[in-house]
Amino acid sequence: MTIISSNNMLKKAQKEHYAVPAFNIHNLETMQVVVETATQLQSPVILAGTPGTYSYAETENILAIANALSKKHNIPLAVHLDHHEEYNDIINKINAGVRSVMIDGSHFPYEENIAIVKQVVKYAHRYDVSVEAELGRLGGVEDDLIVSDKDALYTNPKQAVDFIEKTGIDSLAIAIGTAHGLYKSEPKLDFDRLSEIRSMVDIPLVLHGASGVPEKDVRECIKRGICKVNVATELKIAFSDALKQYLIEHPDANDPRHYMKPAKAAMKDIVKKIITTCGCAGKL
Ligand SMILES: [Zn+2]
Repeated sequence: MTIISSNNMLKKAQKEHYAVPAFNIHNLETMQVVVETATQLQSPVILAGTPGTYSYAETENILAIANALSKKHNIPLAVHLDHHEEYNDIINKINAGVRSVMIDGSHFPYEENIAIVKQVVKYAHRYDVSVEAELGRLGGVEDDLIVSDKDALYTNPKQAVDFIEKTGIDSLAIAIGTAHGLYKSEPKLDFDRLSEIRSMVDIPLVLHGASGVPEKDVRECIKRGICKVNVATELKIAFSDALKQYLIEHPDANDPRHYMKPAKAAMKDIVKKIITTCGCAGKL
């Protein structure tokens, strides 16, 4: 089996104090960049896709490409379901061969979040599939947030203990001030909250929304116990900007084998940078 769960790679990261990056991929080119770069740097890596990505590229195609790349480069790959919400959709993808899932019930009231996560864990663990869930809410977090709002949105450490115990998840995505997409101003992360959660729970912790978070802050999060760092937006921007630039400079270009090259190269630089920040080069 060349498509693996995230369990062992995240446990090793937790033990050895680095993080495994989960890069959001969309097509053949972005998958090639991630796997080739991870192989060169001998880094463990997770290929992640949202429901939109799996319906765009189709689950079977993503798995087939991942399998082929894994064999070619002799590297185990975790193909991960990022922010999936539908039970049946997750089950179908597990049956297709996915071995790493996130069930995001964070928008539900607490008890409902527990119920749906528990249901997914029950099925997933029968097939050695790792399950990540999220507690707290990401995104749209403003700088002038008052403390009571912050407490409502950010992950509550005591609740995290209860949530892990009741659901049996393998890793937990926490909300400490990061957001998805681009930041209007530099995010202020609640490092103390992260440390408090880390001291109270023993499973790997996940940081979402790392695009645009200063490198020193991502490193601080890893130092304090983050074992998986999700990156999506930064990759898309690098890829698209280089592609646009090439097409402006070469208005007659019509060969994807040419115009995809600079886009892949620009994305590769970001993948390298994140692997360095995560401290996971050579940890394969
Ligand atoms: Zn996310």
